Amino acid sequence: MAEAKRNMVVLHREARGWTQTDLAENSGLSQAVISKIETGSLELSGERLMDLAKALDCPPGVLVKAETLPGIEITCLHHRRRASTMTVGVMKRIEAVTHLTRISVEGLLAGIELVPDAGLARMPIGDDQSAAVIARELRIRWGVPAGPIKNLVALIESAGIVIVVRDLGTTGQDAVSTWPQESNRPPIMLVNSGLAPDRLRFTLAHELGHLVMHTAPGEEQESEANIFAGEFLAPEQEITPELEGLTTNDFRRLLASKQKWGMSMAALIRRAHDLRQITDRQYREFYMKLGKLGWRISEPGDVAPEDPHSIGRVISLHQTSHHYDTAEIASLAGMTEASFFRHYLPDSGIPEPRTQLKLGLDHG
Ligand SMILES: [Zn+2]
Repeated sequence: MAEAKRNMVVLHREARGWTQTDLAENSGLSQAVISKIETGSLELSGERLMDLAKALDCPPGVLVKAETLPGIEITCLHHRRRASTMTVGVMKRIEAVTHLTRISVEGLLAGIELVPDAGLARMPIGDDQSAAVIARELRIRWGVPAGPIKNLVALIESAGIVIVVRDLGTTGQDAVSTWPQESNRPPIMLVNSGLAPDRLRFTLAHELGHLVMHTAPGEEQESEANIFAGEFLAPEQEITPELEGLTTNDFRRLLASKQKWGMSMAALIRRAHDLRQITDRQYREFYMKLGKLGWRISEPGDVAPEDPHSIGRVISLHQTSHHYDTAEIASLAGMTEASFFRHYLPDSGIPEPRTQLKLGLDHG
């Protein structure tokens, strides 16, 4: 998909998972009027603009902006569209949130140059370069020492990839990544909120694989990204001795490996299968056992949580070096202050504006 002009009302509406009827109910405008605004046959201004902006919780100005957005080229999204049970509405919502996140992130980065510590370059997958080879090569390029990666989020951020955590409104999709071909546009990983730390790590490694290896959707891209993630997190040479001779009686051993490598037992079992340390039949037995134990939904064994920090650092740079207040920073992100706080500063402890109720003795 090439660059395309997108109607910003549509984008903001879809990001909320709303139909035109939902927006009509929330804004007080008729569905017919909204339809005309969205197709561009009715110009948006005045009171209607205010009503829509209020309903969509965004500054009025962003709704009439002509944003040219890059297509979402490399992502699990297009691949999954064919096979998955996700509804069109959910897919549209994720796509819209992805676009709006890029607009916000690029707005926040205005006047700030990210200086990566580790270089990031595309390493297209091909006949001479398998996913595992690329993963090993990237570990070398980034100077990752042998053994487990202590903080994968920090490592990925150090390469200039922006990680944003958002509620994607579904449990059917863990993340979306985009990296437009144009220079100077940052790669962004949008990750669903509420992922367990082990799942987050595998997801980020999987997305890293997409960003580095894939420029166009391909049939094998999901399994390639999984192989990349496995090799990047737990290189074959190092993990194989831990997986040799594994049986379904060895969950204690798997648990130890999980905590060491920061990788779920389910992912380690798949890794054992990929590396031919267990047979197809054993693989199925492992999965049946995981199901019986209820571990396909929630596994035991803690993995240290990891949080992204680069956007937070960008925001504090605006505050300290540019002396912007939060209203100004929110406007850079194309967001209302309330929505900006909710999405980017949820733990800042700055209270939402509230109405004061004066308590006093009633002398009447
Ligand atoms: Zn994927």
